[in-house]
Amino acid sequence: MNEENFIAGIYNYCDRWCERCNYTDRCRLFRTDAEKDIQHILYDEDPHDPKVFTKDIEDSLNEAMQMLMEKLKEMNIDPEDIQSEELPPEPVFESYPINNLAEEFTKSMDLLDNLYNSYSEKIKEGLLKENLTQELREINEGLSVFGWYSPQVFVKTKRLIRAHEEYFGQEDEKMREIDEEELFVTGKLLYIAVTNSLSALNNLHEHCSEFNSEILEHISLLTRINEELMKMYPEIPEYRRPYFD
Ligand code: SF4
Repeated sequence: MNEENFIAGIYNYCDRWCERCNYTDRCRLFRTDAEKDIQHILYDEDPHDPKVFTKDIEDSLNEAMQMLMEKLKEMNIDPEDIQSEELPPEPVFESYPINNLAEEFTKSMDLLDNLYNSYSEKIKEGLLKENLTQELREINEGLSVFGWYSPQVFVKTKRLIRAHEEYFGQEDEKMREIDEEELFVTGKLLYIAVTNSLSALNNLHEHCSEFNSEILEHISLLTRINEELMKMYPEIPEYRRPYFD
C-alpha cells in the first residue's frame, strides 16, 4: 500500500467500529491490526497467550508513541517540552455528576448480557437458515449497537473529565490547542455513544417486552447523562470531527 494513501491520525476521531467504517483502506491502525491478526494465524499464535498478548501491547505502545511524535512534529511542538511538563493531578471524578451517572450505567453490562442470553440463539438460528424475521433483525441490530456503544459511555466520560481538567489547567497556548481538540473529540464520541445507545434501547424496548422495566431504567440514566453533557458542553452536538461528521 502506498504510504500516502493513509490519512494521518484518522483513528483519533472515530468510534473504532471498523466493521462499519468507510476508511478501512486509508487507516494505518486498521492495517496494523489486520497485519497482526494475519501474523497470529500464520505463526499459529494464540492472541490470548500472555507472551503474545504482552508483545502485542508493547508493539501497540510503540506505535502509539510513534503516532504521537508524528502529530507533535505536524504541530511544530518539541517533545522535550512535553517531557519536562508535570503530569496534571488526578481529577476528583466523584465531583462530576456525569461521572456518577456513568458509573451507575456500567450495570448496563448485565442488561446486555441478559438480552444476549435471551435472543442470541434465536438470531443465530435465523441467520443460519437465512430466515431472520423483521423483528429478530431489529433486535439483532439493537443488540449490536447497544453492545458496541454502551461500554464506551463509561470510558469516554472518564476521558472527558480528564480532558476537561487538562484543558482548563493548560497554560501553554500550543498545548491548549491540542487539549481543546481532544476535549471536543472525546465529548463528541461520548455524545455519539449516548445517543446511539439510547436509540438502540428505544428500538429494543419495542421488541423485548420482558425487559421493559430495565430498559426504561437505562433510558432514563442515559437521558440524564446526556443532560449533564449538555450542561458541560452544549456545543458538542454541532461539533464536527474531521472525516466523520
Ligand atoms: S478510522 Fe475506521 S478503520 Fe480506522 S480504527 Fe477508526 S473505525 Fe477502524
